[in-house]
Amino acid sequence: MFKGILIEKDDAGYRASVQDIDDSQLPEGDVTVRVAMSSLNYKDGLAITGKGPVVRKFPMVPGIDIAGTVESSNNPDYKAGDRVVLNGWGVGETHWGGLAQKARLKGDWLVPLPAAFSEKQAVAIGTAGYTAMLCVMALERQGVKPTDGEIVVTGAVGGVGSVAIAVLAKLGYTVVAVSGRPEETEYLKQLGAAEVLDRAILSAPGKPLGKERWAGAVDVVGSHTLANICATTKYRGVVTACGLAGGMDFPSSVAPFILRGVTLVGVDSVMCPRPERLLAWQRLATDLDVGKLGLITHEVSLAEAIPTAAQLMAGQVRGRVVVDVNR
Ligand code: NDP
Repeated sequence: MFKGILIEKDDAGYRASVQDIDDSQLPEGDVTVRVAMSSLNYKDGLAITGKGPVVRKFPMVPGIDIAGTVESSNNPDYKAGDRVVLNGWGVGETHWGGLAQKARLKGDWLVPLPAAFSEKQAVAIGTAGYTAMLCVMALERQGVKPTDGEIVVTGAVGGVGSVAIAVLAKLGYTVVAVSGRPEETEYLKQLGAAEVLDRAILSAPGKPLGKERWAGAVDVVGSHTLANICATTKYRGVVTACGLAGGMDFPSSVAPFILRGVTLVGVDSVMCPRPERLLAWQRLATDLDVGKLGLITHEVSLAEAIPTAAQLMAGQVRGRVVVDVNR
């Protein structure tokens, strides 16, 4: 038996609770992992609270991030004792995830835990941090350099935003953080933001084109915010879009793209091919100051993860939440 959060949906409603689960209930997979740590991402918040249609099968163990040690393996690439990390691949959505003491997974989904990180640091980065790195890599791939000008990061106090600011600042970019929490200005500056703007500036409907400001962007908000960023991005600038914290819509025009040659790059972490994942984790080992993870992260127990998910959805959580599933 092991402890885990189970999400159930039936005539009695949608609910998440910590339960004792029998090993025989574990799903199919060729690697069994003793989970050390998991985390709470926006998607986990949606899953646990039922605020979004994230969970596709019931009952479900949520948790899109896993760091732990292989307990047994039928996969030639992994053996008992290997330290591994997993992000995405539908885990916590269609396949039981990391908010439990044990997980059974496909070995192809796993990434060896980089020696630079402890299990706690790996989930402190988690899907949010690895997605932030994918955004930074996309900016670089499109040729954006620190000398090109300011990079705007939205949802700055959240998980993706916090890690994006820390990485971009370490790489020498001038970062402008956009946040709805003025009380966190000092936090954002400690992470490396040069300036902090109120998110209200970007969240209202805007014009198709505005004064050019941004060389690049990491946007987690979507909707009018993403449209306004595209409209104010400099000639040939690059906007990466990975989130929908402000809405799924994209009320933009083609003007930024056809008149200013702006590039809009979509970033997905869930099905991201393995070579790029490995590269992102390697880059995190060199380009993220792990000292800043302490500032970004706070830890909760498995049972505390349930009320904390509601706080995350209410925008009351700063940075990243790691979950010690054995506590
Ligand atoms: P968090 O909850 O940690 O952070 C989200 C932040 O967005 C909040 O802290 C807040 O920042 C801001 N925000 C929330 N609501 C609104 C709103 N209505 N309007 C404007 N800003 C808002 O989430 P994550 O950082 O984990 O994820 C951010 C987004 O990225 C989510 O939409 C998530 O689904 C997506 N995502 C996508 C991935 C992918 O593979 N494409 C992977 C990981 C995340 P502040 O308080 O500073 O204003």
